Amino acid sequence: MGRILRRVPLDFDWPQRRTWHGFITPAALREQPCPGCERGYTPEAERLFDRWYGRAPFDPASNGSTPLTAATPAVRDAAERHIAAAPDYYGADDAAVDREAERLARLWNRQWRYHLTQTDVDALVDAGRLVEFTHTWTPQHGWRPKQPLVMPTATAVNAWSLHGFGHDSLNAAAVIKAHCARADLAFLCATCQGHGTIEQYAGQRAATAAWEPAAPPAGDG
Ligand SMILES: [Zn+2]
Repeated sequence: MGRILRRVPLDFDWPQRRTWHGFITPAALREQPCPGCERGYTPEAERLFDRWYGRAPFDPASNGSTPLTAATPAVRDAAERHIAAAPDYYGADDAAVDREAERLARLWNRQWRYHLTQTDVDALVDAGRLVEFTHTWTPQHGWRPKQPLVMPTATAVNAWSLHGFGHDSLNAAAVIKAHCARADLAFLCATCQGHGTIEQYAGQRAATAAWEPAAPPAGDG
């Protein structure tokens, strides 16, 4: 992710806050929404995503995970950070950290993503998604597997996920895809094979892949 600043001619004339037309995919290349899904997954997989994010009922015990409490160190740390960052919002009284820690524990106990099983963690490693645990990074060589090889525990990964950014959507998809495979459930929508859209004409997707954005003219401005 990033931004690119470009120089354009001094007489460049284009409205502010409107995307340069050369960067917008032509209408003829836009596919139709898939009639069978929202974003490429089966209803069964979508229900698992809902459990991952806490939008559908989830119980840590169902994954053999110990529920978090207001006394769990990672929960307490997060609550203290929240209070320090916004005392006007949370209150600065002695009970403020307790209240926030209890809220976070309740919130996070409803979400699969903070209560992975070892099987889930193994699936993430297999998908190359936990390099922070399994690899070391150096400026000369980038990411390299640790020697001997390291297999992170579910306890360690669940503790890590409570800090900072935690699992991204690719991690969610890797765990849920592996879960579906074990449970013999289809993961991707059969109508669109996971694209979430369908071609309006044969060859549209190939044409989209071949399309390249056109930059604005270059200049001294
Ligand atoms: Zn679909």
